[in-house]
Amino acid sequence: MKLRVGSGYDVHAFAAGDHVMLGGLRIAHDHGVFAHSDGDVLLHALCDALLGAAGLGDIGQHFPDSDPRWRGADSSGFVSHVRALLSARGYRVCNADLTLVCEAPRIGAHRDAIRERVAQLLGVDADCVNLKATTTEKMGFEGRREGLAAHATVLIAAD
Ligand code: MG
Repeated sequence: MKLRVGSGYDVHAFAAGDHVMLGGLRIAHDHGVFAHSDGDVLLHALCDALLGAAGLGDIGQHFPDSDPRWRGADSSGFVSHVRALLSARGYRVCNADLTLVCEAPRIGAHRDAIRERVAQLLGVDADCVNLKATTTEKMGFEGRREGLAAHATVLIAAD
C-alpha cells in the first residue's frame, strides 16, 4: 500500500458581512471574508493538503482566482473536484486533521457538524476528520481579528 501525506494552509481577511463559510457550513459572524470564492479557509487548506499528498500542485493552479467561473464558488465543489482527481489516481483519504486559527468566530458549537460535512465531502467516516481550533493569544493578524487561517494535514492511500 502506498501512503502519502500532505499539508495545506490558507488565510482570508475579514470584510464586511454577516457570516463565514467554514468546512462547507455557513457560520454566523459579525464579519465576512474577502475572497474570490466563498473564502472557506478550512476547505481551501484541505484541498491544498489533498493536492499536496497526491503531488498535484495547489488550489490556485486548479481553481485560479482570475477565473470568473470561481467567483463566489462553493468551496465544497473544490473538494469534490480534488477528491475525484485523487480517486482517478487510485487514492482514498485515510484521515484529515484540520486546525482553525482565529479569535472569532468560536466554533465549538459547530465542530461536530463541520466534521460530519467534511467527512461527507471526503467520503469517509466522521471519525476520520478532526477539527481543532486555537487562538494566537491576541498576537498577529489572527489575534488582531484581521482575518482567520487554517492548517490541514491529510493522509491518503493507494493499494
Ligand atoms: Mg483561500
